[in-house]
Amino acid sequence: EEIRALRTSHIAEYPDFPVPGVLFRDITPLLRDHAALRAVIRHWISLLPGDIEYVVGTEARGFVLGAPLAYELGAGFIPVRKAGKLPGTPASVSYDLEYGSAVVEIAEGSLPAGARTLVIDDLLATGGTAAATVELVRQFDVDLVGASFLIELEGLGGRDKLPDIPLSVVWSFP
Ligand code: 5GP
Repeated sequence: EEIRALRTSHIAEYPDFPVPGVLFRDITPLLRDHAALRAVIRHWISLLPGDIEYVVGTEARGFVLGAPLAYELGAGFIPVRKAGKLPGTPASVSYDLEYGSAVVEIAEGSLPAGARTLVIDDLLATGGTAAATVELVRQFDVDLVGASFLIELEGLGGRDKLPDIPLSVVWSFP
């Protein structure tokens, strides 16, 4: 009940951002309220599988939420970054956007084979970002135990892009 109420009170909605026709869900009201964020992180953890060794979060809001999740779980945090930000020889995956394409990268040697790994992000929409992140993580032969999101926007096909992966979400928006 408390968690449900926070969806209304702590997620702001901005019509026509970043482009006309899109209703943007803004998580910053949640981030700035320590007690609310703490309650949400605790609830989120209750939805997750056990014995997670690594949490993989996608730039940039996946960092902000992934770090406290990993910290509380006693897991390591691995950042997935946009192209060109990581030193060394990162693994990379390119994926299609509505217009053009994007690349996500993960540092070489980030994940040991077989590690129980969870992919997270703030929001699942079309699933393009999450599917690319999953493809990236799978290059390390990890044990992908799930993908989890603070928010799922239903009806955009996100779930369908993540078949065979246990999915959990804190809040769904129809
Ligand atoms: P997808 O790749 O599933 O279409 O879009 C999800 C990605 O775009 C996530 O990394 C997420 O941070 C960002 N995103 C798309 N729409 C929104 C939105 O309404 N609010 C927020 N906070 N992020 C969004």
